[in-house]
Parts: sequence; C-alpha cells; structure tokens
Amino acid sequence: MFGMRIAIAELRDGKDRFTLTASPEGLDLILAGMEFIEPITVEVASRKFGLEVSLRLRVRTTIRMVCARCTKEFDCPFDSEIELFVKAQKGGNSFSDFMDEDFAWLDRDRGVIELAERIREEIILELPQFPLCDDNCGGIEYQNKTEKPIDDKWQVLKKLKNKIDK
Ligand SMILES: [Zn+2]
Repeated sequence: MFGMRIAIAELRDGKDRFTLTASPEGLDLILAGMEFIEPITVEVASRKFGLEVSLRLRVRTTIRMVCARCTKEFDCPFDSEIELFVKAQKGGNSFSDFMDEDFAWLDRDRGVIELAERIREEIILELPQFPLCDDNCGGIEYQNKTEKPIDDKWQVLKKLKNKIDK
C-alpha cells in the first residue's frame, strides 16, 4: 500500500496534477478469475484553495477476465472516477481513508489522505458482475460450432457453481 498517501501540507496551492501508481498486490486485489495485466494508475487532479481541498481521481488499469458466456479470456479496460473533498483545519484529524464518505475534516499541517482502501473498494464495486468479451457474445456455441449449443442460462449457472466451488 505504498505511494497512495497524500499529505495535505504537501499539496500545491491552486490546481495541480500528478499520477500515483500501485500494484494489484499492493492494493490487496487478488481476485479469483481476474488478472491485472498492468499496474493501477491514479491520475490526481487536485485543487487547494485556502482550507478547501478537492481531489478528482481517475483510476485506470486493464484486467484480464473470463467471459461469462463463451469462457474466453479477454482484456477489459477499467476506468473510473472518484471525487474526494477535504476541509483542512487546525486540530483536525490526522488521517482519513474515505471509507465512510468522500468527505473528511483533516488537520491542515499533519493531515494525510490514504487512498489505497478507497481505490480498492472502487475497483471491486465497479467490476462487471457478468463479464462479457463483447456485448453481443453469442456464447460457447460460436466458439465450437460442431458441438451441440449449450443453453446460455445453464452456462451462467455453471459459472456460478464454479465460483462457489472455488
Ligand atoms: Zn464471450
């Protein structure tokens, strides 16, 4: 979980942009049936005016997953945005991980934003529940036309069962 912390005092006044990078292991993102084929990059657009700070995070990576219909592996781009707001004050909290809400009161001198947990949560929540290699994926029968087509609904149940068995 290194490199995902931002100290309020170190943020530049006005607008700024910078990029943070994390490994999936660093964010504890080891997910069954999914492989991160590149690091997770977080482009941060910060605005700090007086005691008000806002951060817009663009979280991007590429995840290799298995199509729920045809069971083929495919690379799914991940792209999601998070907006966080901080009110800085003397005597505020020294730390926030933004797990309860996207707003925090932080100490203007000692305050630290820990982004790792929030980014981890964002990725897990935004992952497709039913990954498809293509919206029009015809399922397994298109992969092997000599085989008898298998009912799509049955495939879904089979996938669910595989998930539970794991
Ligand atoms: Zn497919």
